[in-house]
Amino acid sequence: MTPGQKAEARIAELGIVDPRDIDIEAIAFDAGIRVEYEQLRGCAATLVGLGNRAIATIRPSGSSGRDRFSIGHELGHWELHRGQSFQCRADNPSDNLVSSTKLEIEADEYSTHILMPSALFHPAVKSFNWPSIKEIDEVAGLFSTSLLATTLRLAKIDALPVLVTCYTSQGRRWHVAAPHVPTRWWLKEQLDEDSFAYDLLSAGRPCDSPRKQSADAWFANDDAEEFEILEQCYSPIPGQAIVVLYLSDAEMFERGYDPAVRKRRK
Ligand SMILES: [Zn+2]
Repeated sequence: MTPGQKAEARIAELGIVDPRDIDIEAIAFDAGIRVEYEQLRGCAATLVGLGNRAIATIRPSGSSGRDRFSIGHELGHWELHRGQSFQCRADNPSDNLVSSTKLEIEADEYSTHILMPSALFHPAVKSFNWPSIKEIDEVAGLFSTSLLATTLRLAKIDALPVLVTCYTSQGRRWHVAAPHVPTRWWLKEQLDEDSFAYDLLSAGRPCDSPRKQSADAWFANDDAEEFEILEQCYSPIPGQAIVVLYLSDAEMFERGYDPAVRKRRK
């Protein structure tokens, strides 16, 4: 079983059918973990285990969604990597996407799936056509998760042709695509001046519901200019844009291999 499948099996075992019943602290306690809150230095959470018991120490982030993600992450280490101690920067998936080890990725996956299991997350997002940032935030409210973790889950659950990416003035930091989005669509390294995200970062002009945009503003492929996509974005911290792109034109899925893309790969 993958870490995600293990987490979802636990939710099924507990008979949880409503996202509001995912009491992550109680689930951790049931697994032998006592959760404590403390001002840690240099990391967001630690896990120290002895025998069948462990203490997870969480640095309060000021956001219950991020704290819950940290608890889910430490629970993931406990269920998957027992016998080791951890010091994690677990409360912000954006950090872990940039630099991460295998064990951190596994713990993040466990946390994502225990807080937003497919069986409950799918119906929650299915009611929307192309969810706006506000609608994704409503789903985050239902699951008591952070907006970013919820947006990433939306991509990974593969229900929509979505690509989530993070840019700063230095360029692209990371991206996560729904698995069925063709890898031939290659994001530009730098933010294009025609993108709404550029307007957001340079002029503070918001674009938090999906708007039509030329695919050429986002993809480096020569044929991108033939297509339109939907773009929306928000800025979680100054200088950083989280962008949600919907590949709403089905023809973008019918284009074959682009030989030029391979040359761009490092
Ligand atoms: Zn960790």
